[in-house]
Amino acid sequence: MSKDFPLSHSQLKELVKTYPTPFYLYDEKGIRDNLHYFKNAFSIFPEFREYFAVKALPNPYILKILEDEGCGGDCSSLPELMLCESAGISGNRVMFTSNDTPAEEFQYAYKHGDIINLDDITHIEYLKQTLGGRLPDTICFRYNPGPLKEGGNAIIGKPEEAKYGLTRDQIIAAYAQCKKEGVKHFGLHTMVASNELNPDFFVDTANIIFDLMIELQQKDGVRIEFVDLGGGVGIPYKPGQKKVDLDYVAKKIRTLYDEKIVPAGLDPLAICFECGRPITGPYGWLVTTAIHEKHIYRDYIGVDASMADLMRPGMYGAYHEITVSGKENAEKNRCYDVTGSLCENCDKFAVQRELPEIEIGDILIIHDAGAHGRAMGYNYNGKLRCGELLLRTDGTILPIRRKETIEDYFATLDFEGLKDFKVKA
Ligand SMILES: *Cc1c(COP(=O)(O)O)cnc(C)c1O
Repeated sequence: MSKDFPLSHSQLKELVKTYPTPFYLYDEKGIRDNLHYFKNAFSIFPEFREYFAVKALPNPYILKILEDEGCGGDCSSLPELMLCESAGISGNRVMFTSNDTPAEEFQYAYKHGDIINLDDITHIEYLKQTLGGRLPDTICFRYNPGPLKEGGNAIIGKPEEAKYGLTRDQIIAAYAQCKKEGVKHFGLHTMVASNELNPDFFVDTANIIFDLMIELQQKDGVRIEFVDLGGGVGIPYKPGQKKVDLDYVAKKIRTLYDEKIVPAGLDPLAICFECGRPITGPYGWLVTTAIHEKHIYRDYIGVDASMADLMRPGMYGAYHEITVSGKENAEKNRCYDVTGSLCENCDKFAVQRELPEIEIGDILIIHDAGAHGRAMGYNYNGKLRCGELLLRTDGTILPIRRKETIEDYFATLDFEGLKDFKVKA
C-alpha cells in the first residue's frame, strides 16, 4: 500500500497550474486529527502539555493552528520566540530550550514570561547577571542521563557524547542553588532520543526522570511541578515501520506515575512533550516535477526540487518515501536515483529506489516532509528554497510562504558599495 496524500492525481494536476512545483503542501486536517490523538492518549494525566518544536516547521500559520489545538511552542532562538509570539503563543506556553544562548535571547524570554530551560549549571549565574541580579520565578533544567541511558542514533548520538544538559550531580546542585536563591517553581527536562520508534524508550525515560524527581524532593525538598520528556518520538518513514503507539506509552507512564509519583506526594505533576516530527512530519509533502532523466552507470531522474528544499536525505541518508502521482498502483519495475540540482553528489532524494517508470513531467510526491523539511533548507549553490501551501480543512489551498527570489538571496549583499570598491591601488 502506498503512503497517503490528501489530493487526487487530477486535483494535484490542477494545483500545479496555479502553484508551479516545487512546493511544500501541509494538511491541516491531518495535523489536527493527529493532535487529537496525541492529546487524547495523554488525557489520563492531571495535566498534559505539548510544546511544539518550532524548528520542525517554523511557519506562523501552522503555529496558529497548533495554538488553536492548545499547543505551546518549544524554541531555541530569538526568531523562534518571536514566531510563537506572532501566533499568539506566549508566557508559560513557550518553552525556551536553548543551548549556548546569547544574553539578549534570555532577556527577551524573561520579559515575555516564557519558561527558561537551562542547559548548564553555569547558566544560573549567567542568567542572573543577564537579568540584572535576579532569577525568574520558574526554572527548568535539562538533564543528560549520560551512560544511564542506552540508545542514540545518527541524529542525536549517545547521551554521554551529546553536548546537552547537566550531569546527575550538577542537576542536584543546580536545583538546590536555585531554591536557595528563591526560585519558586521547577520543571525538569530531558531529551535523549531522536526519531525513536520504540515506545518503551519513552517509558524508560519517564522512569529515570521520576526517580530523579523523587531524589530531588528527598534530598533538598525540591518540588518538580512539570516534567518535559522532550521530543524524539519517531515516525515511520520506511515501509513496514510502525508508528509509536502513544496510547501504550501514556498508559505505561501512567502506571509508573501511580507507582512512584503519587506515593511520593508529587501528584499533580504536569507531563509535557516538545515533539515536532510526529506532530507535522507525516502531514507535509514536498511536491516536485521530473525535469530530466539520464542513463549512465545508473538511471537518474532529475527533479526541480533540490537538497536546498529538503536536506534530510543528503545530510543523514534519511529515507523518504516517494510516490509518482497517478502511478500509485503501477508496477515498480525501474530502479532510479532521484536527484536535485546541487553540485553535491549527496543531493539525492532516493538512491537505487524501486519506482514505476517515470516520464518527464511526472509529479513526484516526497512523503513525511512536514517536519525538519523546508526549515532545514539552505541557499548553498545559489539555490532558492520553495514555498509552502496549506490545505485547509474545507479543501481550499492557502499559500503560507512564497518561494524565495533572487532578491532574497542578494538581500545581505551591498551592490551599491561594490561600485566604489577598488581592487587596484
Ligand atoms: C529538535 C528538538 C525537539 C523536537 O524533536 P522532534 O524529533 O522533531 O520531535 C524537541 N526538543 C528539543 C530540545 C529539540 O532540540
